[in-house]
Amino acid sequence: MNIDNSATQNPLQDSGPKRVKYVRKLEQVTQLTAEQRDRLGPVSARYVFRANDYYLGLINWEDPDDPIRQLIIPREEELTDWGALDASNEESVTVARGVQHKYTDTVLLLCNEVCGAYCRYCFRKRLFMDDNDETTNDITEGLAYIASHPEVTNVLLTGGDPLLMSTRRLTEIFDALRSIDHVQIIRIGSKMPAFDPYRVLNDQELQSVFRTYSTPKQRIYLMAHFDHPNELTPLAIEGIDSCIRNGVICVNQCPIIRGINDDPTVLAEMYSTLSYIGCSPYYLFQGRPTAGNQPYEVPIVEGWTIFQNALKRGSGLARRARFCMSHETGKIEIIGVDTEHIYLRYHQAKYAADLSRFFICRRDDNAYWLDQLEVVDRQQIHA
Ligand code: SF4
Repeated sequence: MNIDNSATQNPLQDSGPKRVKYVRKLEQVTQLTAEQRDRLGPVSARYVFRANDYYLGLINWEDPDDPIRQLIIPREEELTDWGALDASNEESVTVARGVQHKYTDTVLLLCNEVCGAYCRYCFRKRLFMDDNDETTNDITEGLAYIASHPEVTNVLLTGGDPLLMSTRRLTEIFDALRSIDHVQIIRIGSKMPAFDPYRVLNDQELQSVFRTYSTPKQRIYLMAHFDHPNELTPLAIEGIDSCIRNGVICVNQCPIIRGINDDPTVLAEMYSTLSYIGCSPYYLFQGRPTAGNQPYEVPIVEGWTIFQNALKRGSGLARRARFCMSHETGKIEIIGVDTEHIYLRYHQAKYAADLSRFFICRRDDNAYWLDQLEVVDRQQIHA
């Protein structure tokens, strides 16, 4: 495969609209040796591989530790028996096919089962497996559910990546959501500005749709997903700029990932650039203990330390970001760590009684997840 390296330098004006070329088989990645492709075959058979020429063009193939390579190219260690496919038990908050309702004011519509490429550390990799039926392109049921729940003011389109849907389909969804009076905020969870900035830049109709449905009183938010500064190419920045100019508010959320952004210098650089371009850091997530993700996980205490050191170096805007764990019981912020304890607070909660609840766990530098921690005051956490 010929990799288009110009993608990192040449925004559209040089050569007109471009389309990325998708690759779904490791055999198409000729930068890998035949031996590497053979060795990684069983991994991609278990956890699907997908990438495109633009994104693969960001990799320095001379560097085996290149962060984009770590993010997109399978690793044998993924086959280590570790974690669960649905680590946060999303199934328990699924109220209809493709509809999750966990926090009172927010409903998730899993409206697409494909992404621009597949992050190796994805916590929803189960959606890309053949026998999964948790997403739906038909959101009729989801819309009816939202319409009958006036407490829902916030709808997150997710999946998969909603920006891989056609502009016509997105327009229908925006239109339907805007016709429900109590829905104020529409959020789009998308890594397309990183994987394929052309998706926004090439599509003037989509830009027009953003202007129509992101209004001064009811904004559309793009929950962008950049993991490393190398993804913030001139083209990606232009993609974010296009969203902003067309009325979309942009923020960034990503997990902390071993080998990709587990370095305060790297995280600080990304946070600074994101702040400069108007896509300020929102959440850093502790990686969920998802099957296949063992090589990408960072323990909680180490992640918190990296995050704190990054904030010291990043912009003031970046300091608004929070380090959270999307646990089955809620979104739990890791507030602080000392020699003996970890201090946590429910930023969002599945059970109303937990909301804003502060609690303390004994420090364990090897723990990856709340379930491995010993809660010091067990009364403080919902049974
Ligand atoms: S973009 Fe999000 S949903 Fe898609 S593979 Fe990456 S982490 Fe998973």
